[in-house]
Amino acid sequence: MDIPRIFAVREANHRIHNPVTAEKLAVLGQALHLEPGTTALDLASGSGEMLCTWARDHGLSGTGVDLCALFTEQARARAVELGVGDQVRFVHADAAGYTTDPVDLAACVGATWIGGGVAGTVELLARSLRPGGLMLIGEVYWRRPPPDRETVEACEATSEDDWLDLPGLLTQFGDLGYDVVEMVLADQDSWDRYTAAQWFTMRTWLDQNPDDELAEQVRAELRTEPARYARNTREYLGWGIFALRQRT
Ligand code: SAH
Repeated sequence: MDIPRIFAVREANHRIHNPVTAEKLAVLGQALHLEPGTTALDLASGSGEMLCTWARDHGLSGTGVDLCALFTEQARARAVELGVGDQVRFVHADAAGYTTDPVDLAACVGATWIGGGVAGTVELLARSLRPGGLMLIGEVYWRRPPPDRETVEACEATSEDDWLDLPGLLTQFGDLGYDVVEMVLADQDSWDRYTAAQWFTMRTWLDQNPDDELAEQVRAELRTEPARYARNTREYLGWGIFALRQRT
């Protein structure tokens, strides 16, 4: 089982599969005051950059779970590269319903569909979190109201109601019984690092794989995606990582 191959083509060179830069990830790691020995579970861990760098920088240890074989391989290689291969491990598996013994930090950064949305993902992570532990959720929100149907669809929503705005999302975490204790948000520049970097990867891939079954799709995306992104996504889609603690 794996994710559709097109994602691995577009994001083969990404260390972070989200609109957050290495700098922002480091800022978040510092902001969380992680103690050495903190244990973590990261559902949909991608290429493992969060766990690997926080293992190196803060002495964290833990497990990442991801459905993409390529990203999981890259995560294992990154752990070795950063010298934290004995602290973190990466499992190639479906993270939906995945639970472990309670950890100090349970995360799902940019894949809340694995729990059927924010509420379900909070509930899923809570099953593996020790009392008083820290939860991380990465999620989209409307930075500006979408002006038309084209923008809604470009932001991968079926209707405007699929995403909240930032105050709405923060309120939702409260309604679920959690205090929001930190957040790091994407900005347009960090969106470019996620999205524009895909174009470079796709063009390089296309030059090397002109006859691949995905070549036509990639060729078409390269023609339309930059302008579509600038017109319908860059100004409208917000994204952030939110740190939550259950209310007592
Ligand atoms: N948290 C990572 C990856 C986010 S991108 C980061 O910030 O870099 C979303 C990830 O979800 C991808 O790596 C994709 O392979 C993974 N994914 C999608 N469906 C999944 C599922 N059902 N179980 C586990 N991982 C899944």
